[in-house]
Amino acid sequence: MSNKYDLIIIGSGPGGYVAAIKASKEGMSVAIIEKKELGGVCLNWGCIPTKALLKSAEVFHYLETASEFGLKTGKVGFDYEAIVERSRNVADTNSKGVKFLMKKNKITVLEGTGSIVAKGITKLVKTDGSEEMIHSKNIIIATGARARQIPPYPIDGKNIITYRKALELRDLPKKMLVVGSGAIGSEFSYFFNTLGVEVHLVEMLPQILPVEDTEMAAMVQSSFKKQGINIYTETTAAVEVVSDGEITVTLTDKKDKQTSLTVNRVLCAVGMVPNTEGLDLDSAGIKLNDRGFVQINEFGQTSVDGIYAIGDVAGNQLLAHKASAEGETSVEHMLGKAKHGVDYSQIPGCTYCQPQIASVGLTERACQEKGLEVKIGRFPFAASGKARAIGHTEGQVKLIFDKKYGELVGAHIVGVEATEMLAELGLAMKLESTWEEIAHTVHAHPTLSEAVMEAALDVNGMSPHV
Ligand code: FAD
Repeated sequence: MSNKYDLIIIGSGPGGYVAAIKASKEGMSVAIIEKKELGGVCLNWGCIPTKALLKSAEVFHYLETASEFGLKTGKVGFDYEAIVERSRNVADTNSKGVKFLMKKNKITVLEGTGSIVAKGITKLVKTDGSEEMIHSKNIIIATGARARQIPPYPIDGKNIITYRKALELRDLPKKMLVVGSGAIGSEFSYFFNTLGVEVHLVEMLPQILPVEDTEMAAMVQSSFKKQGINIYTETTAAVEVVSDGEITVTLTDKKDKQTSLTVNRVLCAVGMVPNTEGLDLDSAGIKLNDRGFVQINEFGQTSVDGIYAIGDVAGNQLLAHKASAEGETSVEHMLGKAKHGVDYSQIPGCTYCQPQIASVGLTERACQEKGLEVKIGRFPFAASGKARAIGHTEGQVKLIFDKKYGELVGAHIVGVEATEMLAELGLAMKLESTWEEIAHTVHAHPTLSEAVMEAALDVNGMSPHV
């Protein structure tokens, strides 16, 4: 094994492994250092295993409501261990897929922990404890992030847990408190509630899914309530007593009214913190921003020339596709080929509960705060023939256009396939499309995507179906 490479990457999540493949395809010699599983949080403990769990919940819900489609089933049940097993197997297959991709692209995988000694020098502490200095022209830090832990929720991995444990529970609690209603908290709330757990979802801010457009988040909130999820906004929760399998918490609302609640498990989903410890960033001269994430520019460059940072460790949107986009861009930059940096205003965000919520660009409130005059078009799925045919009439498409030029500045969808439908709007935004161009793009009938065209037509009250 040579210890000289064009590029060393620390961390093999969707940031690191995608950057490695890109660099290798560009002809660079690449090594990737990973201390746990190839594929990072995304493939092993994040995006993929959660979507596998959610699918089980959706199928269960379909079976339970099969009579609405004229079908007869016996009593429907589930084997929770088998649901988790399936999710773990899906994660495992994906991680093995990354191993295959590393081999196929002739990328050296170094098992162990990496840290930065100086520009061009990375220290590898191997799993057997031995150390090696590795030299490279460029370094990418792609070490990701982990669940934030805060004092009101002392994580013990049993009674009070984070997403990591929630993904491998072998039994279901009767009652659960979920703290934090971002994508992770909302997805788990939907999942556990669908499988019959009494879920209490607490959010400190005035709306669930705080980064989403208020009107759209309210639609998900109202659906969650109908599904039986207990939601407390503008409320904080503090754990008072933990005894085995019973946790008493105090909920405090905005008027300081306190309520006591006893649950069997608390899932803490209050954000993520970057994995910067042990990397020796300080001695290498790499600056962090005021939130503790590695400070980068739009090409992923840190404060030290030749050292880049990508993905969750570098902040902004903590999303897998953002990590991959940064990985590609930073490799292009080190090769002198980058035409432009990552555009953080066009990173789509998706939450895969039911109904799903997906968006790209500005919310209505962000437009108001910017003083941007806008025109808005909406189309409810209740008016879509396809939505009625498939039995999913919840939600709507909401498109926000700049009033002066008619350009799409925000796209928001709530509905059963919202996350799949969003892609055309991401492309439309990238191409600076106007409401007219979207409205005049003939969409196939019957599809849920027709709602996009109809929402664009609605900007001038021209939708034929509303
Ligand atoms: P990571 O995926 O975190 O990978 C970092 C890797 O670096 C890890 O494998 C770690 O072991 C390794 N590492 C750390 N330090 C060292 C070191 N010193 N030496 C060697 N190796 C090291 N995002 C989406 O876009 N869509 C979703 O649906 C979605 N769902 C999610 C669900 C959950 C429950 C969670 C927790 C996250 C979800 N995310 C989702 C976020 C997504 O997982 C992250 O944005 C993504 O994994 C970030 O990729 P990354 O490459 O920056 O880091």
